[in-house]
Amino acid sequence: MAKLNILKIGDETLRKVCRPVETITPRICTLLDDMLETMHEAEGVGLAAPQVGVLRRVVVIEVEEGKVIELINPRIIATAGTQEEIEGCLSVPGRSGKTHRPMHVTVRAMNRNGEEFDISGSGLLARAFCHELDHLDGKLYIDNAIEMYD
Ligand code: ZN
Repeated sequence: MAKLNILKIGDETLRKVCRPVETITPRICTLLDDMLETMHEAEGVGLAAPQVGVLRRVVVIEVEEGKVIELINPRIIATAGTQEEIEGCLSVPGRSGKTHRPMHVTVRAMNRNGEEFDISGSGLLARAFCHELDHLDGKLYIDNAIEMYD
């Protein structure tokens, strides 16, 4: 595994729309491994491939220690409720902001074995799903934050 460089706000790569993964190659599996290591090192709870300069629809999330969620080509298939909470981003260091997000989110994605699965989360996990999936479309949470804090 290798630690990757996390791109920071201002880098145009963060604003690009990522391409779906067509075939799960060893390169994609290495990317997942490296993203997880990079996220752990940075003490984040989620990381999207464009944050490490790879324009592919790949995300790792670990809001609960030891429960790693790997998402390939994820999409939100259901939401319910709303929440207003503070979030931050490894690509926007030193800042945080309050956002509106759904309270419950269900995502459909592929795992590294190419199997489709659905996963649901509430609260922090629901926010992480929304935040990381936004990255895949070049969106940052600061775009829609209600308030920002330094
Ligand atoms: Zn982020």
